[in-house]
Amino acid sequence: MDRRHFIAGVASTAALAGCATTPAGSAAPSVAGLQAAPMPAFIGQPTQKLMPKGKAPRVVICGGGWGGLTTAANLRKLAPQVEVVLIDRNPNFFSSPLSNMWLVGMLDGELLSHDYQRASQQLGWHFVQAEVEGVDRAQRSVTTSIGTLDYDWLVLAPGIRYNYEAWFGNDRRAADAARQRFPSAYASNSEFLTIKRSLQAFKGGELVMTLPPPPQRCPPSPYERACLIGWYLKTNKIKGHVTILDHKPGIMPIGGGYKAAFEQLYKDYITYVPNAHVQEVDPFNKRIRTAAGDQKFDHAILMAPHQAGDLAWLAGTVSANSNGWAEVDQLTMQVAGDERAFVIGDAIQAVSSLPFRYYPKSAHIANRLGRIVAYQISERLAGRTPEKRLPDNLCYMVVNGSPGEALNVQFDYDFDSEGRIRQVQRDFNERTVSLYKDDFRWADFMFTELFGGIAPPVLPYPQYRAA
Ligand SMILES: Cc1cc2nc3c(=O)[nH]c(=O)nc-3n(C[C@H](O)[C@H](O)[C@H](O)COP(=O)(O)OP(=O)(O)OC[C@H]3O[C@@H](n4cnc5c(N)ncnc54)[C@H](O)[C@@H]3O)c2cc1C
Repeated sequence: MDRRHFIAGVASTAALAGCATTPAGSAAPSVAGLQAAPMPAFIGQPTQKLMPKGKAPRVVICGGGWGGLTTAANLRKLAPQVEVVLIDRNPNFFSSPLSNMWLVGMLDGELLSHDYQRASQQLGWHFVQAEVEGVDRAQRSVTTSIGTLDYDWLVLAPGIRYNYEAWFGNDRRAADAARQRFPSAYASNSEFLTIKRSLQAFKGGELVMTLPPPPQRCPPSPYERACLIGWYLKTNKIKGHVTILDHKPGIMPIGGGYKAAFEQLYKDYITYVPNAHVQEVDPFNKRIRTAAGDQKFDHAILMAPHQAGDLAWLAGTVSANSNGWAEVDQLTMQVAGDERAFVIGDAIQAVSSLPFRYYPKSAHIANRLGRIVAYQISERLAGRTPEKRLPDNLCYMVVNGSPGEALNVQFDYDFDSEGRIRQVQRDFNERTVSLYKDDFRWADFMFTELFGGIAPPVLPYPQYRAA
């Protein structure tokens, strides 16, 4: 069954069972002899209006990750007359950047987790904790699990989803087994804790990491994770070994720095396998077949291919030509054919016909695109034509815990003579303590922008302590 039929199937099954539209306050259906209590009025009414719209223009931001939070913070500065509503399914933001250190006990989770309600009070935007279930761009309205919201401007910042269909087709049981037993914590924050616990319980053996094909979220970070797991095994004298099955023909970016770290720091702990296109995954018998050979494992971090988050699909922004990503204007981030809707962050499609094609799917780029869209909306509201702006990118990757050492990659963008977006990449392959410190400075700077100074300072950077 494809996705649409699956949803239609669920809806009709629910209707047949008599539980699709039970009105609030009326008797709920009787199932297997149980006479259910009348439902309280606020249950099951996602169609009620959440916040009536006043005269001020309203921007609704769906997704409170790096892109969404940046847009909210910058809109408040650039267009204070605008009412900004940010919706996220979670009560707290959890930062993926720095999270690999948290996974292996190098730093405290409090540095990564921030409360949306407090941030909204500090910065003057509204927070709604709900699941966004649909977007009607013709009516300019968003349906959430607790009600609907009208908007004048819409910003979608939904992040990514796992394309398990590429591995398992319609076999939902296998996909669920892979996600639940061997999650990667790339698309869903709740998986971080599962991975941390599984690492704590890992007493040795073969741990396999599959890396997805590009474009993927934060390409250098799986290697960072492998290094820090290698460091964790070595530090805690655990007889474990990590095999990285990489879809790519080589480590990218910062290949030289990672290769040196694998060879010099983790020779007995990490094996890197290039060109390992995943052909078959068996999460029940713990086996993977790849173009570079078969692999058995005791534990795994399985990264299925990445695509734009579900919401980008629900909002009709993914086209048949955009390869699983949201189709937007490469400069303004405006959804094709809809001047009131934008998509930012990891969810967007290729931005250039030059070989790099996609912006790196990073928090730094999501932040820069959030700034660009806040600027776009504020200029258009002021009746001005926005100038062209391009992002930049910067990523620090920690490869050692004792001493803390990191690598760095930077990207700059401009236009070539034909008007195409051009990328210049610089890899800093020498691992240094100073880049490690810069990683925390970067995070401190970002959190200050996103949360208006209420986030606990990340600096001075945490001292390493054995996990
Ligand atoms: C392990 C790891 C390490 C990383 N390290 C770095 C790094 O060092 N530097 C860097 O720049 N980048 C890093 N990244 C990448 C970075 O985290 C992402 O690029 C960034 O989060 C993208 O921002 P976004 O706003 O597009 O999506 P996200 O930050 O994922 O935000 C999406 C938000 O939308 C919400 N959402 C989605 N759908 C719905 C819905 N239907 N209803 C309600 N809410 C919804 C989600 O809850 C989430 O909060 C790392 C990523 C990982 C996984």
